[in-house]
Amino acid sequence: MMFDLTGKVALVTGASRGIGRAIALKLSAQGATVVAAARGDHAADTVAAIVAQGGTAEAVGVDVTDSTALEALPGAIVSRRGRLDIVVSNAGITRDQLLMRMKREDWDAVIATNLTASFTLAQAAIRPMLKQRSGRIIAVSSVVGQMGNAGQTSYAASKAGLIGFAKALAREVASRSVTINVIAPGFVDTDMTRAVVEKAQIDWATQIPLGRLGTADDIAAAACYLASDEAAYITGHVLAVNGGMYM
Ligand code: NAP
Repeated sequence: MMFDLTGKVALVTGASRGIGRAIALKLSAQGATVVAAARGDHAADTVAAIVAQGGTAEAVGVDVTDSTALEALPGAIVSRRGRLDIVVSNAGITRDQLLMRMKREDWDAVIATNLTASFTLAQAAIRPMLKQRSGRIIAVSSVVGQMGNAGQTSYAASKAGLIGFAKALAREVASRSVTINVIAPGFVDTDMTRAVVEKAQIDWATQIPLGRLGTADDIAAAACYLASDEAAYITGHVLAVNGGMYM
């Protein structure tokens, strides 16, 4: 076990696949009870995998752009589980297009899913955390929010927005021992990037000093650290997990 999260209750959005699923599995492997959220029953398979490895988890169906449903989630978890210690705001989408051709509805969808949902969730989760005088909120941003990328103005804006949001909120809640941090992954091998990689035929090895794409487990390890007691003195931080592609 890397970090002991026994007795902690964690909520992970976008837990059906990719990075969110890996985070849910790893938090559970460290002892946390995990609430795995995705649309419909998409997170059921993640929960089955957690239970198979001996952990405790439940699946929740929520569309993070449904503010009313998302807002209600932290309170419902506290009612059922008694507490909420860790929130990983991971659900995200891309709708890539050059700005000249970007449709307003695509811009709105990306901002709503990647940025506004994190606001909604943090606002609802912060109440029980302040009461507990402890808590960890971790937002999954992106290297694209730090360095930009052509064709991704909406995605970059949403991911850079998360960084400013986290730093401001970190200052608001630090006195109650609640920490707010950001993970900025580089290019990670998931459904999200597979399409891009195949389309663009990019030689990633030349852009990534460590010479490979990241794995969802690379990101999950960072999330476990930031969620742990060992990271109690880290807040408002952006942890780059990108193989050195942006320093
Ligand atoms: P992915 O494989 O495409 O998975 C996306 C996850 O987000 C799914 O679980 C999906 O759930 C969920 N989701 C999307 N829209 C949602 C909505 N409206 N309501 C609820 N859940 C929703 O993506 P990923 O690569 O694992 O990415 C996870 C996070 O890491 C994202 O925030 C992404 O921007 C970020 N990131 C990824 C990379 C990368 O290289 N892959 C790099 C940097 C940052 P459903 O099953 O319901 O669709």
